[in-house]
Amino acid sequence: MSRRETEVPDAEAWPLVKWLWINYLNPYKWRVAIAFALMALEGSMMGLLAYTLKPMFDKIFVGGEVDAMKWVALAIMAIFVVRGVSSLVQKRIMTYVGQISTAQMRRDLLAHVMSLDSAFHNNHPPGHMITRVQGDVVGIGSVWRSFILGVGRDIISVFSLTAVAISIDWRWTLIALVGAPLLMAPIYWVQRFVRQQTKRQRDLSSDITVRMDEIFHGINQIKLNALEGYQHRRYMTLQDESIALSLQTQLGKAMIPLLVDLITGIGFVGVLYFAGGEIISGGKTVGEFMSFFTAMLLVFEPIRRLSGLAGSWQAFATKLERVKHLFDTTPTIVSVPDARTSPPPRPDVRIEAVSLAYGELPVLRRTSFTAEAGKTTALVGPSGAGKSTVFNVITRLIDPDEGRVLIGGVPAEEIDLATLRNMFAVVTQESLLFDETLRENITLGREDVPEEELARVLEAAHVDDFVANMPKGLDSDVGARGTLLSGGQRQRVAIARALLRDAPILLLDEATSALDVKSESVVQEALDKLSKGRTTLVIAHRLSTVRDADKIVVLNQGEVIEQGTHEELLAAGGAYAELYNTQFGSDIETLQESSPA
Ligand code: ADP
Repeated sequence: MSRRETEVPDAEAWPLVKWLWINYLNPYKWRVAIAFALMALEGSMMGLLAYTLKPMFDKIFVGGEVDAMKWVALAIMAIFVVRGVSSLVQKRIMTYVGQISTAQMRRDLLAHVMSLDSAFHNNHPPGHMITRVQGDVVGIGSVWRSFILGVGRDIISVFSLTAVAISIDWRWTLIALVGAPLLMAPIYWVQRFVRQQTKRQRDLSSDITVRMDEIFHGINQIKLNALEGYQHRRYMTLQDESIALSLQTQLGKAMIPLLVDLITGIGFVGVLYFAGGEIISGGKTVGEFMSFFTAMLLVFEPIRRLSGLAGSWQAFATKLERVKHLFDTTPTIVSVPDARTSPPPRPDVRIEAVSLAYGELPVLRRTSFTAEAGKTTALVGPSGAGKSTVFNVITRLIDPDEGRVLIGGVPAEEIDLATLRNMFAVVTQESLLFDETLRENITLGREDVPEEELARVLEAAHVDDFVANMPKGLDSDVGARGTLLSGGQRQRVAIARALLRDAPILLLDEATSALDVKSESVVQEALDKLSKGRTTLVIAHRLSTVRDADKIVVLNQGEVIEQGTHEELLAAGGAYAELYNTQFGSDIETLQESSPA
């Protein structure tokens, strides 16, 4: 997979956290504060526990004071109850905040990604976007929740336990912790390593999602070309790479606790060496030693966890960075600030000296023509001539490098984007059907469509011809991308949709794939009804369409080389006449056969 996303710049972690806080956590600041207070309570209970061991040993086990047993036991019980309850409550709070804030982030991210230009989406396959919106955000939520929880509690534990240790003997404490600074360099190194690995891991999981997305979308092509083995091998290669990376990352993360263990061992031996002598000589009590020892035993566990978190922190920062980067990507196709929100009254379309290149490849070269209001303009030309690109420029899926598009005399960028897009109904052979019911695919979420209007549209689009045969009528599912319908049926659904939309300008891309003669004539009739009275631009593949068009625009390599009516262009004997003879020649018989005249 070539489009790796490692080009996301390395960002400082703190600004990222600040961004996360301001945008998503600030509304819950009181809950977070309470959770922190409870965390502090939970953490300090560890220090208290270590501290109570001193009277336990000195008064009960060594001093034999039976009375003391009661309150020491009570104190220990209380410590555990407080610890347990505060842990439960703060986990509950943080889980809530985590869920709510990540859900919000996901909603925002989805809306933002949908607002980005088509050019962005062409360069970022759906699989990558799915990983970003789903995987990364969930990852952020779960990491930050456990991260903040763990860090808060563990830092307080370390402080309270160290305080207990120092209160007993600061020299012992120093000896026990003498190795800690040695950890700095390796921790820094491991952090960097884990960060790099995590990044690659995320790229890889995006690639895996892309692969699966492509496999499931193209399943029939894969079967027909017997590509199962090939696809499977490609998937396995990615998966093997992912496993290897995961193992390396885990090993990297596990290195830190190992180092902590080594340093702990050295500290313990050192303390035993010094403290043993002092206890024997009577300088310290057994209770003091036990209390110190327990504090030290307990302190290394949170330290170990904290140092292990360095790895999670990196993973977290990487995901956060990617999501933030995506949020920072802004759409370039926007309308001017005070754009008009009412459609221009006259729905004609004029393209003026439009030039456009994809990278180095010029696709439109000073293309100019007008599609008159209420008339049909046919675009013809060889494949790759730029016909679909013209549609994309008119609807502002892409903006031209030079020249402009005028709708009813108004430059397209001066019309609010939603208003502009509402002026068009687009019917292509690839019209997207959603995995919903037939009714939902036609109404597209509008709930106010009167039944009579729906019935009229269904009839005009010849959808009712086949609705009757569907198991649940209009409420039957059409399958993912409409796979449960035939090609002709899908087109008729798209036509019904466009009829209901009742937009003044119609963009039609005629099917190149042959429908059977009957479906073809039904679809054609529905299309004729649809285009009646609308400004229609059609990428024409059928002779009947070009012949009946009010104007024909012939495109070649992005240039308009001829325009006029069928008769005019034939008489001129130029490119259209030639195209007519080669491309449409074979159509004539079909047309004559099916033509009633
Ligand atoms: P037509 O509809 O006339 O067949 P198109 O408008 O689809 O032609 O394409 C014109 C040219 O632009 C083709 O050479 C095609 O390869 C190129 N093209 C189309 N879309 C893109 C894109 N997103 N990125 C790069 N090149 C593209």
